[in-house]
Amino acid sequence: MAGEGARPGGGASWLARLWRATGGHAAVQIARGMLTTIKHVPKRPVTVSYPEVKPELGSRWKGLHYLARYENGLERCVGCSLCALACPAHCITVVAAENRDDARFSPGERYARVYDIDELRCIFCGLCVLACPEDAIRMTRKYDFAYSTREQFVYHKEQLLERAPGAAEDPSAWGYD
Ligand code: SF4
Ligand code: SF4
Repeated sequence: MAGEGARPGGGASWLARLWRATGGHAAVQIARGMLTTIKHVPKRPVTVSYPEVKPELGSRWKGLHYLARYENGLERCVGCSLCALACPAHCITVVAAENRDDARFSPGERYARVYDIDELRCIFCGLCVLACPEDAIRMTRKYDFAYSTREQFVYHKEQLLERAPGAAEDPSAWGYD
């Protein structure tokens, strides 16, 4: 329409209308936003193309746990439950049982018959590692685990134990500092 701007068949440009409507304030804000964007163009990107590119982890990174063995194959864990007591998230369950001469799992009197960690509740603080007198529970550098049910996040002894017979993975291979 005639009289509304320079564009034939249209009104004033959107920028001109915005300028009039806001007294120039919005245009100034848009210009500031664009400046912020332009300032970051020459900078190195902080994102990585995960999962093709893995992020660099800090030297003190705490990931999924594992239960270590001695060189002779015996389990380090003696089922004392000190790790469970130290855990602020109450996510460790230990059920101990007596070793027998014909069925020995650890060097001590007892071993952990059940050892579960609910990794969904875990806050990866490492207190369980500090509390363990046998250096049995350790934390790896594994962080990339995802499941579709809550139950799958509960790791059982068979999954946590180093070189567990028949296990799909050896968790000690997930890295440990
Ligand atoms: S890392 Fe912390 S929260 Fe996780 S199991 Fe150990 S003590 Fe509990
Ligand atoms: S992991 Fe360590 S603290 Fe926990 S039950 Fe086993 S020996 Fe005890």
